[in-house]
Amino acid sequence: MNCKFEKWTFLAIILILLVGCAEDEDPVTAIEEEPEEQTPIQAYNNVDRELWIYYDRFEKEAAERGIQIDLRRERITGEISELHEDGVAGQCNYSSFFPNEIIVDKAFWDRANDRSREFVVFHELGHCSLGREHREASFSNGVCRSLMRSGTGNCIDNYRTSTRDTYLDELFDQRFFNEIN
Ligand SMILES: [Zn+2]
Repeated sequence: MNCKFEKWTFLAIILILLVGCAEDEDPVTAIEEEPEEQTPIQAYNNVDRELWIYYDRFEKEAAERGIQIDLRRERITGEISELHEDGVAGQCNYSSFFPNEIIVDKAFWDRANDRSREFVVFHELGHCSLGREHREASFSNGVCRSLMRSGTGNCIDNYRTSTRDTYLDELFDQRFFNEIN
């Protein structure tokens, strides 16, 4: 009996120690896990929720370059659905009467990583929001100069962390805006 009692006491002490530790750690963890930019994105009407983060990023990247874009006001719709056209990951449909419409191919979307998704959504917003046409220009090494390459030309894509800023500077270069009428 005496032995059992001691075991319980021992366990109780361990538990107290554990609880004590947990209590000490909690406030620290809570502070660390308070991310600044986790504010939920406000809805874009008639845009599939999965696209919101890219619409939001597009506006922010534009703003960083001094260009004000309000995709909610432009009312550009967005959906992810089957496009049934070989090699086509996205499209922008313009209309004089209705808001422009972006469609991203579902098969592409399901297998694409964040960077590829961003590439396609930004490309389509390049057409639908900035009014940009395709630009096939390439550097001497054959790498595309623009996210607005058609994909049927000869240049090679090179959109990655180290080149992203350069490509976005080009995307938001106002000299290329409003080429589509
Ligand atoms: Zn295009």
